[in-house]
Amino acid sequence: MFFETAMPKTVEPMKLSLETRAVHGGREDLHDMGVHALPIDLSSTYRVPDLAAAGIDLETLASGGHPATTPIYSRLHNPTVARFEKAFAGLEGTEEAVAFGSGMAAVTSVLMAARQRTGNGKPCHVVAIRPLYGGTDHLLASGLLGIDVSWARPDGIRRALRSETALVILETPANPTLSLVDLDEAVEQAGTVPVMVDSTFATPVLQNPARHGAAVVLHSATKFIGGHGDVLAGVVATDVEWARELRKIRVITGNVLHPLAAYLLHRGLPTLPLRVRHAQQGAEELAGRLLRHPRVTAVHYPGLGSSLEAAIMKKQMKGKGTILAFNVSGGFAAAARVMASVELMTPAVSLGSVDTLIQHPAALTHRVVEEGARRENGISESLLRVSVGLEDPVDLWADLEQALERV
Ligand SMILES: *Cc1c(COP(=O)(O)O)cnc(C)c1O
Repeated sequence: MFFETAMPKTVEPMKLSLETRAVHGGREDLHDMGVHALPIDLSSTYRVPDLAAAGIDLETLASGGHPATTPIYSRLHNPTVARFEKAFAGLEGTEEAVAFGSGMAAVTSVLMAARQRTGNGKPCHVVAIRPLYGGTDHLLASGLLGIDVSWARPDGIRRALRSETALVILETPANPTLSLVDLDEAVEQAGTVPVMVDSTFATPVLQNPARHGAAVVLHSATKFIGGHGDVLAGVVATDVEWARELRKIRVITGNVLHPLAAYLLHRGLPTLPLRVRHAQQGAEELAGRLLRHPRVTAVHYPGLGSSLEAAIMKKQMKGKGTILAFNVSGGFAAAARVMASVELMTPAVSLGSVDTLIQHPAALTHRVVEEGARRENGISESLLRVSVGLEDPVDLWADLEQALERV
């Protein structure tokens, strides 16, 4: 079934600048509560004053509604989580945001929502553009959710569509190769089919896919939004209708975010623009130096590839970001030696933290991806991915250089 429109309703105009929204979003009710810091509501259950007032149905909950009376039970609604969601929607410029217990819980919920939208029991088809995060690729390829998947190149979306296509799913910049997909072009090809963009690598600071027509914008909030390597979370910025479906699924499946995690995410939002821009300077510096290093055969960083990629970057991103990847001459053994030899950088998966992390996608994050798909998409044995943190780039380069000397 085709939907009436794939165009999201972005909340326009966003009068305040990003920095201001990052500081003030989701704090609207604090003044009346007489507090200044974000309150953490850890209640799993709430007093039900009278049964007549407690007749809350799924539709009310799905609308984000928590009648002034009582939230009843924390799987249904939690005020600390709801405040973070409000703040986050403000950063992406969407009507709503819905938070989940991890990025993968968010991806799973979006796929279930897409399936619901095609109608119960009907076949459901998704068009997916590789490369994707290893976990997302694995979820789609596993058939676990009973969804039929067609893998397409960015220019082959239109050809891959069927009458029962419920969703187009893509990442830009993509994990782990940093390849870019032209958002305007992808949305145009998808026509009336909604497009889900995993925008984890860009954060709302560098890219707002909803402004290009993406119906669903997903983030693994474990990464930059948390920003300190101490929270697992996912968040989806979208319109009212999708948010309704996603909240229903969250109530039913229990894919919830813990209020302590929501507090940490919300607490970190004011510094998100500072963190991303500062780390980006470091990444630009490292990318430039890696390009000139004799043991590095290729550097992957938005805008560095073809002139077409540079044009896409300019059109939809406000900067190149903080993550880069590179190939070392000498294959797996050389890449493994670099990863084992860094002293300041942490050899670890994940990304978007205050400290710099380096990892080997083929052996770690993308190990679960079929070998053929890894090969076709440049996830090779010589590839290392670096998530640049807030350290001084001079120190980071000294560390990487001594590790490359050992190859
Ligand atoms: C990490 C990641 C995910 C999965 O998020 P979790 O929070 O680990 O479940 C999804 N997409 C991208 C691009 C990621 O980097």
